[in-house]
Amino acid sequence: MNKEIIKNELDILFPNPKCELEYSHDYELLLSVMLSAQTTDKSVNIATKELYKKYDTLDKLNTLSIEDIKNYIKRIGFVSNKSKNFKSIVSEINKIGYVPNDREYLEKLNGVGRKTASVVLANLFNVPSFAVDTHVFRVSKRLGISNKNDDVLKTEKKLKKYFDEKDWNKINSQLVLFGRYNCTSRNPKCKNCNLISICKEKNKN
Ligand code: SF4
Repeated sequence: MNKEIIKNELDILFPNPKCELEYSHDYELLLSVMLSAQTTDKSVNIATKELYKKYDTLDKLNTLSIEDIKNYIKRIGFVSNKSKNFKSIVSEINKIGYVPNDREYLEKLNGVGRKTASVVLANLFNVPSFAVDTHVFRVSKRLGISNKNDDVLKTEKKLKKYFDEKDWNKINSQLVLFGRYNCTSRNPKCKNCNLISICKEKNKN
């Protein structure tokens, strides 16, 4: 069964998958996931390293102006919007002092959508989720879990139906890593891929 083949291969490739964003506090994860839109986790980690070290509490982060934030994150792109969102999220979270296990609350924060909320809920609270980022979106199609015309929400629904709920968070992280390092957008490593027999795009790549 394809599901078992996929699960086994992902377990071999990524036995202990984890989020590659670096954070020490719950709010840092939330901020870093928001910042990671349209860029790599690596560049977010570089941009936030000094920022989180120097401003290591919510109160301290809350003293930063949008211009201050821009100076720290200028290398990651979409800096204007991301700086405003950063300031706004810090201000909101600082009112309660922690990131709550509450999707509705999270999705109302500026710059936080369904995907960001899912990553935060899965990593902080182990809430079973599927955050469909660009890697998960692409790999799901290639592995035949979703179809060519499915949008992100439909892909999420299909992934949730395809895999057992107890496995969602682990497989989500594994699919991100598989898409990031193996089944890349351009030049995927098909020659060494053990999922080639079930792949829908093996001939294209
Ligand atoms: S065969 Fe290539 S495109 Fe298909 S899943 Fe493997 S790496 Fe991805």
